[in-house]
Amino acid sequence: MIKINENYKKLQASYLFSDIAKRVTAFQQANPDKHIIRLGIGDVTRALPDACVKAFHAAVDEMANDATFHGYGPEQGYDFLREAIAKGDYQSRGCNIDTDEVFVSDGAKCDSGNFQEIFANDINVAIPDPVYPVYVDTNVMAGRTGQAEDGRYSGLTYLDGNKANGFIPDLPSEPVDLIYLCFPNNPTGATATKEQLQQWVDYAIANKALILFDAAYEAFVQDESLPRSIYEIEGARQVAVEFRSFSKTAGFTGTRCAYTVVPKDCTAYTASGEAVSIHDLWNRRHTTKFNSVSYPVQKAAEAVYSKEGRSQVQELVTYYLKNAKYIREQMEALGYDCIGGENSPYIWIDAKGDSWTFFDTMLNNAGVVCTPGAGFGKCGEGYIRISAFNSFENVQDAMSRISGAL
Ligand SMILES: *Cc1c(COP(=O)(O)O)cnc(C)c1O
Repeated sequence: MIKINENYKKLQASYLFSDIAKRVTAFQQANPDKHIIRLGIGDVTRALPDACVKAFHAAVDEMANDATFHGYGPEQGYDFLREAIAKGDYQSRGCNIDTDEVFVSDGAKCDSGNFQEIFANDINVAIPDPVYPVYVDTNVMAGRTGQAEDGRYSGLTYLDGNKANGFIPDLPSEPVDLIYLCFPNNPTGATATKEQLQQWVDYAIANKALILFDAAYEAFVQDESLPRSIYEIEGARQVAVEFRSFSKTAGFTGTRCAYTVVPKDCTAYTASGEAVSIHDLWNRRHTTKFNSVSYPVQKAAEAVYSKEGRSQVQELVTYYLKNAKYIREQMEALGYDCIGGENSPYIWIDAKGDSWTFFDTMLNNAGVVCTPGAGFGKCGEGYIRISAFNSFENVQDAMSRISGAL
């Protein structure tokens, strides 16, 4: 008899996006003429940069000809892309990262979900709240938690984000082995300073722990004093893995390309205390279970690092940040406390009440869709997230409707 992985039964169904969809559909049926503006989902809306589209087309043409055709590529990604990443994103910013420490993949969602499988089941895992749900659910599937109660799994160490700490969690009071961090943050838009990240790196070194740092939104950092990579922090090469993606920065959510940096200095330990290279383990896992990203997509991603590509990506980021700034200013003018929206495409707003009531007010009175913070964890209750991924015209329209409604 085929039996299931019982850990899957512990997963709490996330009703967040289906609940949102139901309420939106009901509203649209009752108000068929009303144009709904969606500032909820974390997906980009603008086209791929022209430099990427040109490289993408040219690579497809290569695939159409026997002489230039590409079959399987290296599992870790083509050198042309790994080199462009190591130079363009790290070495040029003073971070000592080598080409062969970069693993190209089809998404930071998969990488941030898969990485935990190279570690033991009895490690202590620390996860922020509110949070991108992938980190929690993949540890549940792997059997590192007990049952959920009141929205929290036993066996996990939750790192609370709240107004008092500015949604930058404090160090855990109990020892932990694996730590998930994400800055600029989804959903809160909060950013961490170098000093704050230094505390985490120092903690990881002292506790022989590992940080999984999700930098999917690094391109939105405008303040030059803020770190864009964990490797700007001293000691991070020993204790941190970084996930990045072309999804939010270059509009690749539907094209699929991302990468993970695993420095050769990162170590994990056997039960008897022998040090093992995390780079070797991940290389083994990646080459066994993954066959790389298509050649045309890697060529399109490489074009992000060309002169035109860089300025076109910057233009996209600036566009979304203008939306974010506008949303934040308008919400503050209406008397709401906001976090994010300055170095991030998300604005996290104190709803002055419960998340879903605020969501319903926004939908029914303004025809605007946002995301209730409660869907991202216990500490998200009482907040909503507004995303800057839409046209400036729609954002202006949404904000004038919200001012009228609130
Ligand atoms: C969007 C997002 C990602 C990127 O996922 P991809 O699979 O690369 O599209 C990763 N982490 C967070 C927190 C995100 O919001």
